[in-house]
Amino acid sequence: MSAYDWKECPMCKKKHETKLRKLKKLYGKITPEEYEDKRKEILEEKDYDEEEQTVRHDQEAWLNDNGELEFYISMGCQSCGAQWDAKDKIKPKIYEDDE
Ligand SMILES: [Zn+2]
Repeated sequence: MSAYDWKECPMCKKKHETKLRKLKKLYGKITPEEYEDKRKEILEEKDYDEEEQTVRHDQEAWLNDNGELEFYISMGCQSCGAQWDAKDKIKPKIYEDDE
């Protein structure tokens, strides 16, 4: 299956924002050098990069021999390992013409 799309990971984003928020609370409590070092450390962390979309999104949809729509959607973050999967079959709606 080929990669369909890439998306930003909300889990990684949240983790990253929490770290920055915690750091902000340290402002004034640690030396400016320490603060800057920690800030850089967080921004340079490999597991999150605002520019980087770490969630691989694959999906397929097809009509099976019973006339049902079958689909499969899979998203997985290659950084934190979060995984979303959905697979289902849907029967067709048939509108009969009564005229
Ligand atoms: Zn993630």
